[in-house]
Amino acid sequence: SPAIMWFRQDLRLKDNPALRAAAHSGTPLLCIFILDEEVMRLGGASRWWLHHSLAALGAALEKHGVPLLLKRGAAGPILEELAAETGARALYWNRCYEPAAIARDKKIKDAMKEKGLEVKSFNAALLCEPWEIATKTGEPFKVFTPFWKALQQKTIPAPLPAPEELVAGPKVEDEALETFALLPSKPDWAGGLKEAWQPGEEGARARLAAFLDEHLREYPAKRDLPAQPATSRLSPHLHWGEIGPRQVWSATEAAFASDAMQTKSGTAFLRELAWRDFSHNLLYHWPSLESENWKSAFDAFPWAKDEKGFKAWCAGKTGYPIVDAGMRELWHTGWMHNRVRMIAASFLIKDLLVHWKEGADWFWDTLADADLANNYASWQWVAGSGADASPYFRIFNPVLQSEKFDPKGAYIRKWVPELAGLDDKHIHRPWEAPEAALEKAGIKIGRDYPAPVVDHFEARDRALEAYQAVKRVS
Ligand code: FAD
Repeated sequence: SPAIMWFRQDLRLKDNPALRAAAHSGTPLLCIFILDEEVMRLGGASRWWLHHSLAALGAALEKHGVPLLLKRGAAGPILEELAAETGARALYWNRCYEPAAIARDKKIKDAMKEKGLEVKSFNAALLCEPWEIATKTGEPFKVFTPFWKALQQKTIPAPLPAPEELVAGPKVEDEALETFALLPSKPDWAGGLKEAWQPGEEGARARLAAFLDEHLREYPAKRDLPAQPATSRLSPHLHWGEIGPRQVWSATEAAFASDAMQTKSGTAFLRELAWRDFSHNLLYHWPSLESENWKSAFDAFPWAKDEKGFKAWCAGKTGYPIVDAGMRELWHTGWMHNRVRMIAASFLIKDLLVHWKEGADWFWDTLADADLANNYASWQWVAGSGADASPYFRIFNPVLQSEKFDPKGAYIRKWVPELAGLDDKHIHRPWEAPEAALEKAGIKIGRDYPAPVVDHFEARDRALEAYQAVKRVS
């Protein structure tokens, strides 16, 4: 009788412990992906990514003579039906860590076991399971630095090779990928995503290799400069498990093994990778991270309802060039540089006083790397309401941030081309540019580029005043 390999956020053949175990169990395989939208909340950019990632996985499995079965609906009944139809005796998967997925998987495990199936789950997504890492008193970590120290003490298992051989199970009716309707139809807004990414295991591997080869060495010096291609851009690949963090870890270590400079840079890079594990650790232990303030004192915060400001922010029309450049990069490519994510999020939360959840939901819909743990932990980090968060009163000045991290305005010129003709000084604050400079650049504020939606210094005072409400209850 065959075994079922249920793919979820592990869309790869290499370093896939569930697939390897299933393949080595000596039985034919039924590989399946189920679009279970009750549990899997998908934003627009993620849908686009998933379509292409499934196409890539399907093609890779096909090369081994095994089809990827596609089904849509609640996973439990679909798996039960598949087992009944084919006489499957075992079910393999790699674990997911979102609260809804954990609850679903537990139910499925119990139901399948009751029917006599063997259910085996594995870790393909994290360096270390959230229950394997704890403080000296056995508590989950709430602060990143000691988490990182503890993680470095762990032995990170070496990645597994792809299974040598896959044997196809019996033929089963399934659906065509097109019926999932994951791609945008009218209008097709995905042109920029297509240019920027190659979803799938091959694309992930190529991205890692190019990063280690060309950019790792300068990662610490350049990772905060959005105009530079200095970071790995592995985030969507990691989210869908087209590459695993253990593969990234071991390839990075191998790259820096004999080179002191590389070692320092490699450690800086792995430290960022560890933030991903930390966020998953937080979500696992505090499953309401997505919807509730981690620090409940923030429940008293007097958020504003600024629909006009929110719309301007989404559209990249706030009048603050660095914020607008980030929001347009996001819309166009499904990704935004980390430094600019922090600046844009801070602007929405602190300059416009819009609830962090509204910004997080917009990111959720537009990011190709939208990830429940990373996204909501990061938004709460910026808001000051999260675990080991930046203090609320540290309010980013978007102009100073822009001058520091995009000194020549190259990033702004790329994404806000209407400002391209401004000089390096005024490109960060066009509303202060003298008439002659604006004229020379062919810009009229309010006609070609918006005036600022708020005055940052007034907004800053307003935010600090609002924060008093949190201070009173904490
Ligand atoms: P690199 O610098 O090359 O880092 C390598 C990998 O480490 C990343 O791919 C990512 O998996 C992980 N990583 C790096 N920084 C962080 C971090 N701060 N937190 C968690 N993991 C990290 N990341 C997501 O993957 N999905 C999200 O939905 C998401 N939303 C965010 C929202 C806000 C407001 C902010 C400030 C950050 C968010 N991040 C999110 C974290 C971070 O911005 C991205 O992971 C990073 O920019 C991805 O680019 P990269 O792959 O080139 O990163």
